[in-house]
Amino acid sequence: MPQASAPPTSQIQVLVHTPAYSQMASALSYLSSEVPPPGTLVRVPLGQRELLGVVWDDSPAQAQQSTVEPAKLRPIAGVLTSLPPLSSHWRSLISFAASYYQRAKGEVALAALPPQLRDLSQVQLGRKLKKLAKIANQPTPVTTGVAADTTAALQQAAVAAPHGVVLSAEQTVAIDQFRNHNGPFLLFGATGSGKTEVFMHCTAELLAASPQAQALVMVPEINLTPQLEERFKARFYSLYGMEAVVSMHSGMTPAQRLNSWLAAHSGAARIVLGTRMAVFASMPQLKLIIVDEEHDPSYKSGEGARYSARDLAIYRGHLEGAKVMLGSATPSLESWHHSRPAPEGGRYHRLEMPSRVGSGQLPLVRRVDMNHQPKACIISPPLLAAIAERIARGEQSMVFLNRRGYAPVLQCTDCDWKSECPHCSAYRVYHKIDRTLRCHHCGLSERVPRACPACGNPDIAPMGRGTERLEEHLAELLVQVHRPDGQPVRIVRIDADTTRLKGALESQLAQVHAGDVDVLVGTQMIAKGHDFRRITLVAAVNPDNALFSSDFRAPERLFSLLMQAAGRAGRDSAVAGSSEMWLQTFHPTHPLYESLKKHDYPTFAASQLKERRQAAMPPFSFQALVRSEARTQETAQGFLNAASQAAGEQNDTAALLAHLTRYPAVPMGIARIANIERAQMLIESPSRAALQKFLNAWQIVLHQTRALPECKGVLRWAIDVDPLNI
Ligand code: ADP
Ligand code: ZN
Ligand code: ZN
Repeated sequence: MPQASAPPTSQIQVLVHTPAYSQMASALSYLSSEVPPPGTLVRVPLGQRELLGVVWDDSPAQAQQSTVEPAKLRPIAGVLTSLPPLSSHWRSLISFAASYYQRAKGEVALAALPPQLRDLSQVQLGRKLKKLAKIANQPTPVTTGVAADTTAALQQAAVAAPHGVVLSAEQTVAIDQFRNHNGPFLLFGATGSGKTEVFMHCTAELLAASPQAQALVMVPEINLTPQLEERFKARFYSLYGMEAVVSMHSGMTPAQRLNSWLAAHSGAARIVLGTRMAVFASMPQLKLIIVDEEHDPSYKSGEGARYSARDLAIYRGHLEGAKVMLGSATPSLESWHHSRPAPEGGRYHRLEMPSRVGSGQLPLVRRVDMNHQPKACIISPPLLAAIAERIARGEQSMVFLNRRGYAPVLQCTDCDWKSECPHCSAYRVYHKIDRTLRCHHCGLSERVPRACPACGNPDIAPMGRGTERLEEHLAELLVQVHRPDGQPVRIVRIDADTTRLKGALESQLAQVHAGDVDVLVGTQMIAKGHDFRRITLVAAVNPDNALFSSDFRAPERLFSLLMQAAGRAGRDSAVAGSSEMWLQTFHPTHPLYESLKKHDYPTFAASQLKERRQAAMPPFSFQALVRSEARTQETAQGFLNAASQAAGEQNDTAALLAHLTRYPAVPMGIARIANIERAQMLIESPSRAALQKFLNAWQIVLHQTRALPECKGVLRWAIDVDPLNI
């Protein structure tokens, strides 16, 4: 049907947020008196509600209501005329992400837009945009200090590092390569090698080269890296004005999110700094995407469309012709593999910065063989002595343990009773501070019983140890130790429990930075990213668990966590001379620890990749998980197995089965949460294309299977492409 010339009753296709697996997976048809260009934001009625929507360039035949008579279509409620339409690049990114991660386009598109857009009046929106346009159209950067009136001088001012930072030789080489190649790049730089400085320099160059260019800088958890935000702001505010650097993360209020989004979309923001959600930011002049700590699992979304922001960054860069730089001291094995030499098939350009800036040394890694320490000791005597020594010297130590709470289980000393959660297949964790048993999965929290609920024995005891107990234990062990000023030792614990309140983390970190803390105890939360200047000793109390985990990614995660943790020590070369990383282990000669001792990621990665290749695991194969939830395991698994069987009976899926392996449905690691049974099925293929093709076709089969009477009990199901946790 011709569209352009049918004035009052033109059909347009609009994406709205439809439930993920409803049958309304594509655009909906509406009537409009004009035909706004694709990417235009509109308000449309759906049922009783009015929703924000994006005009899409699907043909009417692709849209859901192609069968609906035109007379029954509803008119749109309004057009957000003052906003420029979303670009075709942006729309391609959304379409790709939806198709690759097997979700509805509307869901992905609308999740990427600030919900407040819907509620704003045209007048309010117009006012905001006018303000931003003024900023975006500023002819030259705002310069401070010496007046600079030629473009060249401005560019130099923009690129030079402030305060006379002289780039190291390694930084210079990395930046040269960045300048002369298209990427994508993997900046493989030791902790403290000056990666952030390289990111800022590359950003400055690209922004200086083109007056409208924009850069996207992603970090795994913005709350944990306020320092990065500060550094970028300090560097670029003075050049491009206060509005040039905006943040985008889930911790922002809806109004803040809207403002950042508008600044990025209008071009007023030159730099967007954000968490994984920022990969979908509308940035019409995007020229650079940086993914800091690219190995971090938080780049993978755990709900809705389970996208990997790192992988989408690569795709988006390719789509938009923007350079992409991933950075890490311990790259993901996927990125490492992609950055192998080009003749071996590598597609990323690897930039290496092995040394710390200045005279900073990487810490000495020491392994304590726990087989030769007093039985059941938590902090071995040599580690305790080392911590005491640091305290006496006025230096800080960091002790971490990946388990919060006081003890993971409470147990009756007489009978078999353990603090199981009645609703989950997991134990409730004992929190001594408020004497509660808390389930970390469903949230159930109850007072600790006075006596064993099973046999009445009053003697119920904590088993194992969390950070809360470790903190208590350390305080006892260090009671005789004093600071150089004669004061008692100050211990602070930082984990998800102590940082629940807004601002708590910031104030605790400030205490550490101010030197008001001698020993910092915490979970992996403290091991990541922070630039602690005075910590000279980092200790992992019990890192062994992950060595023998059934999750094939566990060693990779452990190695990177320990390297990151070690990276917290000795960042200030003034006190770095004798910085140390301590590992308490029953397997001191394990190859993972051997590599760690040498700070040798490449050797570790090579051995892991060899194992992965032999076992045909990612990156040598591609995986997807289908998860299902029901009241019983039988139902949850039954659905998956039935859908798998049906795949063999339908032509378009059956044809692809030769290219992939389907595993039987199994209960998930934690099979039951809040009384819901969870099952999963793994699909694997040596070919990404074959897997994608299969999933696209199988999706319909899954819908059909779900509709069968025997699958009535299935509550939810979802596909996770490139899953991180199996
Ligand atoms: P990374 O991100 O690799 O851990 P950073 O960029 O945070 O490293 O650098 C570590 C420290 O070294 C920071 O305090 C930074 O300001 C400083 N630094 C970086 N590059 C230089 C340089 N060329 N000269 C002096 N100090 C530098
Ligand atoms: Zn008992
Ligand atoms: Zn529970």
